[in-house]
Amino acid sequence: MVYFDNSATSQKPRQVIEVLVDYYEKHNANVHRGVHKLSDEATEMYEGAREKVASFIGAETQEFIFVRNTTEGINLVTWAWALGHMGKGDLILTTEMEHHSNIIPWQQLCQSKGARLAFVKVNDEFLLDEKDLDDKLSKKPKLLCITHVSNVLGTINPIKEIVKKAHRAEAKVLVDGAQSMPHMPVNVKDLGCDFFAFSGHKMLGPMGIGGLYIKKEIMEGMSPFLTGGGMISEVKKNGSTFDKGVARFEAGTPNVAGAAGLAAAVEYLEKVGMKNIFQHERKLTKHTLAFLNDLNHLRIFGSKNLRKRTGVVSFSMKGVHAHDVAQVLDGEGIAVRAGHHCAMPLHQKLGVPATVRASFYLYNTKNEVNRFIKALGKVKKIFG
Ligand code: PMP
Repeated sequence: MVYFDNSATSQKPRQVIEVLVDYYEKHNANVHRGVHKLSDEATEMYEGAREKVASFIGAETQEFIFVRNTTEGINLVTWAWALGHMGKGDLILTTEMEHHSNIIPWQQLCQSKGARLAFVKVNDEFLLDEKDLDDKLSKKPKLLCITHVSNVLGTINPIKEIVKKAHRAEAKVLVDGAQSMPHMPVNVKDLGCDFFAFSGHKMLGPMGIGGLYIKKEIMEGMSPFLTGGGMISEVKKNGSTFDKGVARFEAGTPNVAGAAGLAAAVEYLEKVGMKNIFQHERKLTKHTLAFLNDLNHLRIFGSKNLRKRTGVVSFSMKGVHAHDVAQVLDGEGIAVRAGHHCAMPLHQKLGVPATVRASFYLYNTKNEVNRFIKALGKVKKIFG
């Protein structure tokens, strides 16, 4: 099978699966609470994972919260930070290339606070419209919520420069790192952003675990999003006080195995090297586009400039529904995704209801791309 649905989720190396099994077979206990050996081991695995993953993105350990996924990370920022910082008429910026996870929480917040949401445009080259960004930043938004890499176009947004501009305009910046973390080196301090959310399952880790970086000085002033066990300092009948550290954002029993699995995924990625992964995917993308660009019956959605994109190739085929294309490819043993990829506003902008998306990862090969190209020929024969 050729697995080209990596933007949705990645496959898992044996090293990650073994850590999950090892945890449940040998170390399973609840963390932080028990005064016994197993609980200490589980706590060590969980907190060790926090240290490992935080340092992978250049964050301090106490700036890193475990969440379920990118979606939960963004919602945490929405309700634990933005809710207290937005008032009637305040402006939040997002962009036309966002995943629904970075749109809907802001719509909900705007509804409840009477704030406004504006979308920075995507230009004809499938890149963020810099002039529109500047115009909208001049309107003094309080927050810019932007994806690092588009899950449809593969566009890499120049986050470092964007953060500088946004900070000059006194806006905080939340980065959706779901599609950058798995595929390129990321350092949150270098990017300068205030919040950075990502999912473990797209970067060789298990499902149900992800991360949220929050700049220390911002986190200090934040109240928890969920409340309950594991996040308190003291509870009395007439009120409670909360843990001062990251634990106050991790109410309830955490996903210890998931965190340990994510740490194992990070170790795997470090060994291969994020730069190597990025280069490898670029080569596959170049090879793919060299063929696809010549096919007149395809419309390709993504920058022609390879330096500005990752290994995500989305396209539509004239006269053929995206799902039909994907189904024929599936029959040939090739897994791609068809649909709006949780980016309906972007598809409205592109003028198509759905696209076919092939997305690569470190284990994909040139040979697999050749099979994919050959299979596309078969799709054309069937429907053409
Ligand atoms: N943002 C982007 C850019 C994504 O690609 C995805 C996953 N498709 C998400 C957010 C949401 O990720 P999750 O479902 O893991 O929360």
